[in-house]
Amino acid sequence: MKQLKTSRHDGLTTVTANDRLTKYGQNEIQHEQREPAWKVFLRSLGEPIVIILWIAIGLTLISASYDFFVKNDHAHGMSAIYEGLVIFVVILINSSLTYWQKLKAQKSLDALSAVSRHQSNVLRDNTWQKIDATQLVPGDIVDVKMGDFIEADLRWLSVNELQVNESHLTGESDAVQKTRDALPKETELGDRTNMGFSGSTVVNGSGIGVVTATGMDTELGKIANLLQQTKQQKTPIEQTVSQLTKRLMLAAFGVVTVAIAYDLVKEYLNTGMITITGLMNNISGAIALAVASIPDALPVVLSIVLTIGARVLARNKGLIKSLSSVETLGATTFIASDKTGTLTKNEMTVTRFFANGVNFAVDGDGYDPVGEINSIKDGKNVQESDFISFLQSAVLNNEAQIQRDENGNYAPLGNPTDVSLIVLGHKAQISRDHLLSQTGEQDCDILRVLPFESTRKMMSTVVKIGNKYQLLTKGAPDVLMRHSESAVLADNSVAIDDAKATLEQQVLDYANDALRTIAVAKRELTKEEALNATQTQLEQKLTILGIAGIIDPPRPEVQKSIATLRKAAVEVVMITGDHAATARAIAYRLGIVTDKQAPVIEGREIEQLSDEQLFELAPDIRVYARVSPEHKQRIIKALQKHDQVVAMTGDGVNDAPALRAADIGIAMGINGTEVTKDSADLILLDDKFTTIEKSVAAGRTIFANIKNFMRQELTTNVAEVLSILLGTFLITQPIGHISELTPTLTTIMVLWVNMISDSMPSFAMGYDEPEHDIMAVKPRNVNESVLANHLLSRVMIRGFVMGFAVFIAFYWAAKAGMQPNEAQTVAFLTLVFGQLWHVFDARSSHTLFRRNPFSNPYLIATVLFAGISSLAITMLPFFNTLMGTSPLSWEVYIAVIFLPALPTFILSGLKEAFKIKIW
Ligand code: ADP
Ligand code: MG
Repeated sequence: MKQLKTSRHDGLTTVTANDRLTKYGQNEIQHEQREPAWKVFLRSLGEPIVIILWIAIGLTLISASYDFFVKNDHAHGMSAIYEGLVIFVVILINSSLTYWQKLKAQKSLDALSAVSRHQSNVLRDNTWQKIDATQLVPGDIVDVKMGDFIEADLRWLSVNELQVNESHLTGESDAVQKTRDALPKETELGDRTNMGFSGSTVVNGSGIGVVTATGMDTELGKIANLLQQTKQQKTPIEQTVSQLTKRLMLAAFGVVTVAIAYDLVKEYLNTGMITITGLMNNISGAIALAVASIPDALPVVLSIVLTIGARVLARNKGLIKSLSSVETLGATTFIASDKTGTLTKNEMTVTRFFANGVNFAVDGDGYDPVGEINSIKDGKNVQESDFISFLQSAVLNNEAQIQRDENGNYAPLGNPTDVSLIVLGHKAQISRDHLLSQTGEQDCDILRVLPFESTRKMMSTVVKIGNKYQLLTKGAPDVLMRHSESAVLADNSVAIDDAKATLEQQVLDYANDALRTIAVAKRELTKEEALNATQTQLEQKLTILGIAGIIDPPRPEVQKSIATLRKAAVEVVMITGDHAATARAIAYRLGIVTDKQAPVIEGREIEQLSDEQLFELAPDIRVYARVSPEHKQRIIKALQKHDQVVAMTGDGVNDAPALRAADIGIAMGINGTEVTKDSADLILLDDKFTTIEKSVAAGRTIFANIKNFMRQELTTNVAEVLSILLGTFLITQPIGHISELTPTLTTIMVLWVNMISDSMPSFAMGYDEPEHDIMAVKPRNVNESVLANHLLSRVMIRGFVMGFAVFIAFYWAAKAGMQPNEAQTVAFLTLVFGQLWHVFDARSSHTLFRRNPFSNPYLIATVLFAGISSLAITMLPFFNTLMGTSPLSWEVYIAVIFLPALPTFILSGLKEAFKIKIW
């Protein structure tokens, strides 16, 4: 302490702490530098899609040189040069977008993780306060309790049954008991039990320590470069899409080769030879074809939409840590939820209790420490002596408090179960402070506290009252009974075997009324036992003093959420440490089970079951009671073996492995421990079950939107490729002014469609609100490709129809005697408007008639922009030169705007009329 110039009583001053922060730096592990911006940018220039564009540029250059030097056709050469330039600009735009999107995604993930950043409880300026753990400095006094991370290296100043898991440093997975004793200097790291190390988790008890090292100076910092870095991974759908584009590239090569070969064979058949001129004449069509086959903008739009998704979730109070969780959420089929605090309010009140053989009813609401206590049996008068030892034990073996705020309202502080007992004590004028104060009847001191653990389901305190030592224990009645030898009934101590039936009946009565039950007990100890016996040695041979029945009202909105999820074929499973009957009664009230006698499996039964037996049972069980965290993992595995996608909530340290095993691990933002938040994929900022439901809906919506714009984009590509191929194969003679070598669409037109008129509305589809029935259909099967469920056939059929329409428009223009540029412009606009009409169908899993076309303002704006700008580039001379477009007469404009609506309306109409799914 002297070395660190700090004080146990006051902590550091804010001023000193700030000075030290400047000197030692933030308390964080510096991972490798992030990739510099220019590298990210350069890498995006080598993406597969961009490679196609580079090849296209190369081909335009070859074609231009041929025009200049061999054919001496300057006009044609210049247009090839323009083409190359435009493609280059497209590459730059695409890469800038990719780059910008990566930065943005990183930023929003950083912002999200800032919310879930670790906090430390630190003593500064003589007050305990929560600060960001990165702000810790050497000399800070910090306090940790079960479920916390140790955020810096510490020397323990005081410990209370403190056990810590430091397997990240020692590889030893058993918890280490910590002390405050001095140790020889040469003690090995793993044996330095008076130290706490950054990155460890507190699995039991609590402690106060002084920070000795922070950041890279900690033991963790010394091995930081050995730690695995979490990389930003591609989400499954991003992987699928990049696979798809690679396949499309292969297909493009195939199609282009076939098209060129076809032309060469034709030339050979006509003239008896193959010439360079012949090859060169085909090149511009080939480039257009190659560019047409790739959905250039798809990957960028996809990752932008996923990032939008993360933000939508955060607005709903669900915080996700990686983009792939957005996808998984939508596919969730089972939600296994903790009962207490998530499904219920966690506002506990004792309404009944049983002590000394008498049954009492308690009045009063919430945390107000007033309310009458009445005995139920035979209107017998309330006798203080009947409950005094029960209540003293419940109140002393308890670390909770109630506090009065400015408005005179009482607020709970600490574990809600414990708070309810404190409130009950006050109603009978028994308070912990009074018992412990000097003015109490007897001298009373607390010697040891063995905190509550959900595995043990008990909590104990060793006290010294007068000169007697006692163990006070409370916990789940059935567990406590197994550790008891007697019970007090009607002023007599009765052997536990004789009292059992009465007690069990009492517990069942409470539990059937959905009350949470807790038994209170005590045991006389010798001084030696009191000071040195282990937890297991202490918690036995107890005498039961009574049982409390605690109400924990269900959250009112949960019932509706469960009904919604049921409609969406998402099963909800309740997992609780409570009594089976309590659990069943609450599950029934919430609609998790519809049968009052629904089967409930207890933790102890799970232990008896083999993995196969649990596998058989799991799909039908909706309530698990008296469960310990270890059981959760087995439940998850059993469900996952049935190909279910399981989301699981958790709040304690021991829940971390289950959260990791689940497909979606869910932690509570308010009441969750740091450790669970760290292992979770989704953090509920408001701890509410309804937020899970909303997150599932948001996940489904985002996935549906992605599918919709993929349909839109891929349809365009099919239409583009087909219209160009039809031109190659069907126009073998010049028609009017148009030679058989004129491609239906130019490369730049294709690029315009891919990058502007198609991708912008696609992007806007990422903002679409959910369809009305998004939670009325079954979850998506995760093993299915994105193209499943008719997406592929829809893309092909719509794409074919549109491709034919574009070709027919071109053919008609040729027949009508138009110039090549004009005919290509007609084809181009037919494609653009075909797409802009089709968008409204693509965004519905039914048809455009089932969705309000004006519900998404972004979509309307982008469609208008795409339509108007596409018309503009046919009218403005600058673009005419650059893109090979040409103005048209107004009748033709009207025709190319409205006629392309026909295929969409006809196909959608037929679909509605005949319930067709395939298009
Ligand atoms: P859940 O989180 O599902 O409510 P818990 O593990 O918190 O389950 O509680 C299981 C049982 O342990 C409760 O029914 C109660 O009997 C007992 N219990 C809960 N909290 C405490 C506590 N603070 N002290 C003693 N026993 C408790
Ligand atoms: Mg609990």
